[in-house]
Amino acid sequence: PVRRLASSSPTSNHFITESPTTKTTTTTQPDADADGAQAAQDGFPPFTLAVKDNIATLNEPTTCASAGLRNYTSPFEATVVAQLRRRGAVLVGKTNLDEFGMGSHSANSAVPSPGRPVPGFPDPARSPGGSSGGSAVAVARGDADVALGTDTGGSVRLPAAYTGTVGFKPSYGMVSRFGVVPYANSLDTVGLLARDVGQISRLLVRGGMWRENDPNDPTSLSDSTRKRCAAVREGYSAAGATSEPSSGAALTSFKRLTFGVPLEYNIEELSPLVKAAWQTTLDQLRRLGARVVPVALPTTRHALSAYYVIAPAEASSNLAKYDGVRYGSRDPSGAADGAGDVLYSAARGAGFGDEVRRRILLGSYTLSSEAIDNYFIQAQRVRRLVRRDFDRAFCLGNPLLDGGGGEEGGQQQQFDLTDLPEGVALDDKRGPPQVDFLVCPTAPTPPPTADEVRRATPLDAYMNDVFTVPASLAGLPAISVPMPGRESELPIGMQLIGQFWDDARLLDTAQTLV
Ligand code: GLN
Repeated sequence: PVRRLASSSPTSNHFITESPTTKTTTTTQPDADADGAQAAQDGFPPFTLAVKDNIATLNEPTTCASAGLRNYTSPFEATVVAQLRRRGAVLVGKTNLDEFGMGSHSANSAVPSPGRPVPGFPDPARSPGGSSGGSAVAVARGDADVALGTDTGGSVRLPAAYTGTVGFKPSYGMVSRFGVVPYANSLDTVGLLARDVGQISRLLVRGGMWRENDPNDPTSLSDSTRKRCAAVREGYSAAGATSEPSSGAALTSFKRLTFGVPLEYNIEELSPLVKAAWQTTLDQLRRLGARVVPVALPTTRHALSAYYVIAPAEASSNLAKYDGVRYGSRDPSGAADGAGDVLYSAARGAGFGDEVRRRILLGSYTLSSEAIDNYFIQAQRVRRLVRRDFDRAFCLGNPLLDGGGGEEGGQQQQFDLTDLPEGVALDDKRGPPQVDFLVCPTAPTPPPTADEVRRATPLDAYMNDVFTVPASLAGLPAISVPMPGRESELPIGMQLIGQFWDDARLLDTAQTLV
């Protein structure tokens, strides 16, 4: 049964609602007791689950941290919540976020305390990251064992990096989005946060969630595609992170693994602390027997711009339904009722915060007839190139492409060795470009202070997503794991990115690394 959190502090707002103490069973309520009993029978121990408040549950409102949805309660439950209940999840509450998932610091929230950012962890004066900041803090503080977040351009990975937790974004189409309020459909994924990688693979891989198609979500991969993807990955055992098919051995070393260091990620804005942590990770990988090679992802520098055209474009279309008629709240005085545009604009004017309005304006413009060719269409081209960069870098093919055998056998890339991260000694400076995983920081800096967040321009906030959006544009699995910074106690996240549907191996590798 659901229960009220004991450890929740009245001074923190990382939860928007906490699950009620008593369960009222109606015909539309999920039967938590039956799910719990079934889970125990299936060998899943109970665990506490916090759910980002843009994912529908039946017991509490689903607000998306938006004033217009403050009182909205969903008549159905998200598939992913039901899947987790059947695996032992006990809901403890709905967590705070940037309104509709738009932001990187969980400061763009209108609910429950408008204008008050979510305090970070372990330092409440620093950003918890966003947009799944409430979920990350709930996990970091121990209020929940696992939390659900959404990752459109990094919203699970960034808060994980800033709070010293693990954040996993699965391959696009693996986990159902039914019941998840859309921000940008072609990029949206549901991700998991936990204090260790094992907890995530226990549910997703060993718990079999990765296998489950959801007919209610048209972007959920069909059973036949899942089978095809799994066949391509056959031999790449979930338990053995070896690049040798059919070995299936337990993961004891990285001897057969090659990790790519994307040269283009060595940007000017990279903080020395993060760079040092990156170096430590590369040293650690080498100690574990792996090869570390440079990789070129030439389109990386355009990925951020492409993301910030595509995501707002899709958002502007998605958010059209919050008009005070279908969704969103109306002016209670009723003054604007019956007057078409006036009703809409009153509801939208009162319902949306600044960042959401900015995205709607941006998206409406880039989709307009005068701008679409120069912005939206160009961004889609960049997106294809980003995907091609990745397909050329990985030794595994993309199973969604014809044959899944990798693009043109993966041609040799041009490396500019002067671009190598300073002090990064590489085993083989000429490549080869064919790698198992890419390794790079999750964010260019450690968590910024609340003051720095306040002073930052919207563009500064977008910059934060520079390392997370490429994998989102390509739909690839990516994980952020905590790495201790060498000269500081501040949490720093390291990111591993894998080829499409290589999620199980990615999780095993991450688990061995930390
Ligand atoms: N910070 C990014 C944005 O604002 C990513 C958000 C997300 O992944 N939901 O769009």
